[in-house]
Amino acid sequence: MSTPSSITLYDTTLRDGAQGEGIHFSLADKLRLAQRLDAFGMHYIEGGWPGSNEKDIEFFRQAKKLKFKHARLAAFGSTRRANTPVEKDPQVALLLEAGTPVVTLVCKTSTLHVTEILRTTLEENLAMIRDTISYLVAQGREVIFDGEHTFDGYKLDAAYTTKCYQAADESGAAYLVMCDTNGGTLPGEIAEISRALGQAVKRAKLGIHTHDDCGLGVANALAGIEAGALQIQGTVNGYGERTGNCNLITAIANLQLKMGRRVLSDDKLAELRDLSLFVDEVANQRPSGRAPFVGSAAFAHKGGIHVNAVNKLAASYEHIRPELVGNSQRVLVGELAGRANVMLKARTLGLKLEEKSPEAMKVLEEIKRLENNGYEFEAADASFELLVRKTRGEYQPFFELLDYLVSIRKDNVNGQDTSEATIRLTVDGKPVHEVAEGDGPVNALDAALRKALVRLYPQLATMKLVDYKVRIIDSATGTAAKTRVFIESSDGDSTWATVGVSFDIIEASWLALRDSVDYFLARKG
Ligand SMILES: [Zn+2]
Repeated sequence: MSTPSSITLYDTTLRDGAQGEGIHFSLADKLRLAQRLDAFGMHYIEGGWPGSNEKDIEFFRQAKKLKFKHARLAAFGSTRRANTPVEKDPQVALLLEAGTPVVTLVCKTSTLHVTEILRTTLEENLAMIRDTISYLVAQGREVIFDGEHTFDGYKLDAAYTTKCYQAADESGAAYLVMCDTNGGTLPGEIAEISRALGQAVKRAKLGIHTHDDCGLGVANALAGIEAGALQIQGTVNGYGERTGNCNLITAIANLQLKMGRRVLSDDKLAELRDLSLFVDEVANQRPSGRAPFVGSAAFAHKGGIHVNAVNKLAASYEHIRPELVGNSQRVLVGELAGRANVMLKARTLGLKLEEKSPEAMKVLEEIKRLENNGYEFEAADASFELLVRKTRGEYQPFFELLDYLVSIRKDNVNGQDTSEATIRLTVDGKPVHEVAEGDGPVNALDAALRKALVRLYPQLATMKLVDYKVRIIDSATGTAAKTRVFIESSDGDSTWATVGVSFDIIEASWLALRDSVDYFLARKG
């Protein structure tokens, strides 16, 4: 629990985050996410806007049955309508019906928005703020005031924006949250205006809600915190309208590791990467490798000098220990890589490989040979690990390919194209023969392979391909060009990547597919 001067984390992934392009949460997704966010340690979780859609009303109905260990659930809505008594306003009634301990109210604080968008008087807007907050406080709700366009409004008419804040403060709001709704403010302005508003209010704590339109979502939120705000609002992975919201993942790591503002236990901080991947998974988003702190590239080293140095002393090219946020060091093995890269990569994957041992030399030789043939192991950790295990004789095949046949029928008359794959394997000493159809030849081959294996290895049902990339290499040779296929797979908990190269795209896909299944079975078998 938080002490009075500590910072509270307010997550709006389920409301502001869901407004991002390409983000869609079902009701079940929202309930699942709310529980995960609670388990992680968010202090507040905004579940949605009951006044805007049926799904959010149903969310709050079902959320009543959930037991939150840590978080307080918030329903989001707006002040009463102009010239309407608050107790007669249907939207406000829905906020109460949501039955949450917290209600977050978006309020106009910019004269421009009051007169041009809301089309009411400045006095009526102040009355709307006062009436709605007092009413909800009287009904036992903790009210969080979200001041829309605070910074733009303040720059336009500082006196009026300040009056809105004072009205909310006097009416009993617990937090007054300064929103950079359009995301166009700079950190220096955020700090200056936050300080000024902090001096104008007497009772409530300040909060900060920022958007990333200038690439400053996190920087602006941290500027607000430095200027005295005690609540930070944002979304996991920065989902949100336009370019997104303040990314809470990045903000939390900075608060705790750089600013010494403790918001979570160390154990929870180490779940940061996990939470980020979980939310991406539910939202069906491809995780960003370059995400600060938690991305797969955040502690990846490629340049020879860096790798050499990191091998001696990790801190030489790393700003924090990656384990603090649940990440780990990675070494990218590329063409430029020498022995140091390969040794370090093996070590970070937990593979024992004695430097200068005959085994290590064999691994190096094999990598060089494959790289000359068009392979790249930089991002294909799983294929790299299999290669090391094979070279060391530690590899037990789970299945052996006898043959496969892939056919494609282009049906120009009925427009129903079909792909079919037939596969023959030896599994556990016995021949297996399966046929499957798919959307395209690779999908059919993948389906046939799983069908052949799933009886003996039912855990394969949890595995799926999340990304498939094809690159033509050495195109100077025209039709004889090779194809490199890169596959990323996931079982919901972790992702792994494999690579295959061949003159034939199906063969290259098969090699990457085979590695992916092999790796999964070796790990989870
Ligand atoms: Zn927002």
